[in-house]
Amino acid sequence: MNIKHHLDEATLFSYVAGALGQGTALVVACHVSQCEYCRDRARQLEAIGGALLENNSLSPVSDNALLQVLERLDVRPQATAAAPAHAADSEVPGPLASYIGDSLDEVAWKRLVAGVWVYDLPAQGKGLTRLLRVAPGKAALPHSHRGSELTQLLRGSFIDEVGRFCPGDVADLDDRITHQPLVDSEHDCICLIATEFPLRYTTLLGKLAQPLFGF
Ligand SMILES: [Zn+2]
Repeated sequence: MNIKHHLDEATLFSYVAGALGQGTALVVACHVSQCEYCRDRARQLEAIGGALLENNSLSPVSDNALLQVLERLDVRPQATAAAPAHAADSEVPGPLASYIGDSLDEVAWKRLVAGVWVYDLPAQGKGLTRLLRVAPGKAALPHSHRGSELTQLLRGSFIDEVGRFCPGDVADLDDRITHQPLVDSEHDCICLIATEFPLRYTTLLGKLAQPLFGF
């Protein structure tokens, strides 16, 4: 897997600190299970967080304190990282497989509109966690976000203002970005999405369609 789009540092840190909502944490876990680079970063952040807690649990953390902790830590990635139990080359990341099994083709897709299908995962706290399947050539409506939106690409590809996203890539977007993803793969594009708040559509059409899409 040639992964080009990774998790934001802040998202990873919230993940290792256990501060993410369930849905967002699931998407992060899916990306981390497929991305060695982010697995190593998560491990480093975990070590830093742990050391900060041990060394300085009550006093405010200054930049200097962080540097001292970093110096004491061996934060180099460990080459002998345990391989995930789930097949690393599977289209369905391990953490997601416990919800839907091993095949994206056997998901009970629900058709929203022509060329768009969804499958909502069981309640994952606030926000919405769903699989989205979009036919080639279809574009989502332009939207921005009130909270974060995390999208892990599972099959196919899409392109938006940020770049081109292929399987394994994650789009880690905050509320500063307005984007309009367009599916540019030959086959359907399937991704796992967690949004913490409803999307904010930027066009009148989008606003009108929002109740229809349910997000
Ligand atoms: Zn990554």
